[in-house]
Amino acid sequence: DQSDSFISDSLRGLIEQSSGCGSGMPFLVQRTIARNISLERSIGKGRYGEVWKGKWREEDVAVKIFITTEESSWFRETELYQTVLLRHDGILGFIASDIKGTGSWTQLFLVTDYHEQGSLYDYLKREILDVEDILKLAHTAACGLCHLHTEIFGTKGKPAMAHRDIKSKNILVKKDGSCCIADLGLAVRYISESNEVDIAHNTRQGTKRYMAPEVLDETLNKSHFEAYRQADIYSFGLVLWEITRRCISNGVVEEHQLPYQDMVPSDPSFEEMRKIVCVEKLRPDFPIRWLSNEYLKTMSKLMGECWSHNPQARLTALRVKKTLGRMIQVLNKQTKLEEPDKISEQLLTEVI
Ligand code: ADP
Ligand code: MG
Ligand code: MG
Repeated sequence: DQSDSFISDSLRGLIEQSSGCGSGMPFLVQRTIARNISLERSIGKGRYGEVWKGKWREEDVAVKIFITTEESSWFRETELYQTVLLRHDGILGFIASDIKGTGSWTQLFLVTDYHEQGSLYDYLKREILDVEDILKLAHTAACGLCHLHTEIFGTKGKPAMAHRDIKSKNILVKKDGSCCIADLGLAVRYISESNEVDIAHNTRQGTKRYMAPEVLDETLNKSHFEAYRQADIYSFGLVLWEITRRCISNGVVEEHQLPYQDMVPSDPSFEEMRKIVCVEKLRPDFPIRWLSNEYLKTMSKLMGECWSHNPQARLTALRVKKTLGRMIQVLNKQTKLEEPDKISEQLLTEVI
């Protein structure tokens, strides 16, 4: 029965206690939306369900449908999107969450904005970019990560959050070439008043290929929130590397590759990743051509400071965001100059 929507008591409790619906619409509106969406086509498949492009009235929406046995994943992602003040240009826009039907025919929906360019991973496979393009992708993604990581104080404040599964497949590209962070299913929140880390009950972990050394060798201090932010920055460094490879300079560009693609097999085990990342301490390499372009050279410095072995030596998301912001300013200034190449070196040396 399409009109009979079932809501678990725990979700109802969550909504009531959060007095408002975080980054979403009022809860009853959410239920109305979810019931009135028509699904058009499947656009992505994950381990926990399938993502569809749908229509709600005249609007395109994305609908993540969780398989019934994954109610806890759906619940967790819903709960995280309900976080007060989460809404931001750099975070995938949440619209609604609902459970449709009961018994053997139950559908768990999570409705968000739809982005036709798809994931950053798909975008980088397809597009060749210039400096302006890569700086925009990187800067907007860093803005999203920074917002996620930042605690906003006050009675209606936002807790600090860490993503725990940062990778190019979990970042989406908008029509204007900016990015937003998606797939919050594994995120953790930090409750500063009680100094508690609110971690998901399921034992799922992020994507092995993007796991920080301290996650791989299991030395991450799970009760120390900063450790999760630092692990995100490591993964973000790998994403910066993926982006930078697709920037053309002097007519040359690299193909898109996953990080460590030529060092580990296609679905690497924990042990295979640990050997490369922790024991041999390898990192993705920098193509020689990056040295002869000031922007690409600065990008390589930036990613290097994100993926340090020592988590404490890594930059913060705020630092990464500011550096990329300044690189964009330099680029804008440079395009107005007569001898642009001479000046970019002077301007960029001070950037990091
Ligand atoms: P999972 O938790 O199963 O990994 P994701 O939320 O990461 O699910 O979505 C899986 C894939 O579906 C993404 O990598 C992306 O390609 C596509 N996708 C997800 N959400 C959207 C969206 N809002 N717009 C366009 N494509 C999306
Ligand atoms: Mg995903
Ligand atoms: Mg997920």
